[in-house]
Amino acid sequence: MTEIRALPAFDDNYIWLLRAHDQVAVVDPGDAAPVLDHLAHSGDRLCAILATHHHGDHIGGIAELLARHPVPVFGPAAEDIAGVSHPLAGGEHIEIPGIGVEFEVLAVPGHTRGHLAYYGPSLCGTGAVFCGDTLFGAGCGRLFEGTPAQMQASLAKLAVLPAPTLVYCAHEYTQGNLRFAAAVEPGSVAVQRRVEEVAAARAARRATVPTRIGVELETNPFLRWDEPAVRDAAASRLGHPPTDAVETFAAIREWKNRF
Ligand code: ZN
Ligand code: FE
Repeated sequence: MTEIRALPAFDDNYIWLLRAHDQVAVVDPGDAAPVLDHLAHSGDRLCAILATHHHGDHIGGIAELLARHPVPVFGPAAEDIAGVSHPLAGGEHIEIPGIGVEFEVLAVPGHTRGHLAYYGPSLCGTGAVFCGDTLFGAGCGRLFEGTPAQMQASLAKLAVLPAPTLVYCAHEYTQGNLRFAAAVEPGSVAVQRRVEEVAAARAARRATVPTRIGVELETNPFLRWDEPAVRDAAASRLGHPPTDAVETFAAIREWKNRF
């Protein structure tokens, strides 16, 4: 049984740690210190590193970890990340040594050009996806290197995962994102309920991730391009009805950039 734990880093990053049989793999170690700390205190051994994309807050700790623990590093072939020993593209299947977890690699470009997500269909009984800065609680990543069409297609790949799938995002952004979700869909009971749940969690200093695909489908405006209320919100930004899902998504993303 694989256990998944969050190692908080910087202001609002989560480094995800997957643990089985005293071996741990880490996803997006932007900082080596919390990982080294965990290894020192637990006696666990590092067995692999996975990276979703090339931003410093996701890969900044890889060199230092590798210097002490020469382990395989999985990451996007389409991005330049020092230390990656297993360059990957979407559609590949990998098995993480040590913990024996199998992932399907999903290409989810948009935030960055080569962004990957790692989907483990059998993790936690429900399936789990590590999606970096693509999908957040009630939000999505900024489009630094991709087009709205790419990002919408990437989010659509995540949206079709089974509803109970756990979503391990790389940032604690849910509360701020929900303020925006409530502006997009002021009439949504599901969004209002989640605003209250997340406020309570944050007041108690609890993480709001992992979330679940089903929760995101109900409350995340960046997955709800087919919803009449979201299309209406996009139309009022655009000044005309959106022609398709991409235009709806693009208008909502653009609004969020200025929100
Ligand atoms: Zn990023
Ligand atoms: Fe990030």
